[in-house]
Amino acid sequence: MSQTAPLIDPFARAITYLRVSVTDRCDFRCVYCMAENMTFLPKKELLTLEELDRMCSTFIRLGVRKLRITGGEPLVRKGIMTFFNGMKRHLDSGDLDELTLTTNGSQLARFADDLVAAGVRRVNVSLDTLDEQKFADITRWGRLKQVLAGIDAAREAGLRIKINAVALKGFNEDELFTLQEWCAARDMDLTFIEVMPMGDLGNEDRLDQYWDLKDLRARLGERFTLTDLAESSGGPARYVRLEETGQKIGFITPLTHNFCESCNRVRLTCTGELYMCLGQEDMADLRAPLRASAKDDLLEDAIRKAISLKPKGHDFDYSRQAVDGQMSRHMSHTGG
Ligand code: SAM
Ligand code: SF4
Repeated sequence: MSQTAPLIDPFARAITYLRVSVTDRCDFRCVYCMAENMTFLPKKELLTLEELDRMCSTFIRLGVRKLRITGGEPLVRKGIMTFFNGMKRHLDSGDLDELTLTTNGSQLARFADDLVAAGVRRVNVSLDTLDEQKFADITRWGRLKQVLAGIDAAREAGLRIKINAVALKGFNEDELFTLQEWCAARDMDLTFIEVMPMGDLGNEDRLDQYWDLKDLRARLGERFTLTDLAESSGGPARYVRLEETGQKIGFITPLTHNFCESCNRVRLTCTGELYMCLGQEDMADLRAPLRASAKDDLLEDAIRKAISLKPKGHDFDYSRQAVDGQMSRHMSHTGG
């Protein structure tokens, strides 16, 4: 592939990681993510599978080394394996280091083998509870058994799995060690995510449910010896190792400012909007330049211009017990 100048933002951060939402649709309705009655985008607004391929391939040409596919639920997008199979050529050529996805796990039993064949080696599966009733409550439409079967299928197919659990006070507080032990028994890493003030529904509830990960970490420390791991993904996750089990536990605290300086990522929505920062409204429309020309020049220019506008950091703040810097868009739109 021809080498062009890599993407470097105004704060000297190289942009090497692209998260791509391939659909705004989902077969679940998690209470912190979606309203029960969602109106989804008309199909013509969405990037087609071919457009998604062109978009990602252009980013890869500009230096992106890691792609994470998300949504909505990426595995409910019709024909999505065509896209994954297409991206495999970039893994094969060595231009892409990693192709991965974040999924609710509901379709994994169907797709695990195909994902492995497309070069996927690791997946993040979101799972907040191991209790059937609580799972049904938090996801509204989800069934725990189906997700557990998906996880089993993925492990059998040889995929490495990381579990992501949103930490919710009064909801899964009592499952901290159950989740940890369940993951340890399956050699799966576990990451907790601090709940974010996304969307426009029930934010007061979310403030009530806000569970400080410092507290969660302290509770883990009462039972285990925690060793901080220096490794950083350039994102908002910090990791510790539990010395007694060797297990890696992650903490994603998007509301703190401790990661912006190493931020290497941008997010593309399913309509082709590029968000330069999860916590800022600033975005660039990449669909128009993509559709305006069959060649990629306009698109490349638009990407470079967008990256030159990547802000230094974000404005989330829970500290005044009010949701400041609140985002009006849903996680399912920007892809979490
Ligand atoms: N449907 C897939 C899934 O659930 O893994 C991918 C998309 S989902 C939007 C990505 C991640 O965002 C999930 O781990 C989900 O738990 C998380 N998420 C959604 N809303 C959130 C919120 N308000 N605060 C924190 N995490 C949230
Ligand atoms: Fe769907 Fe994932 Fe949002 Fe849950 S968190 S509603 S599974 S997109």
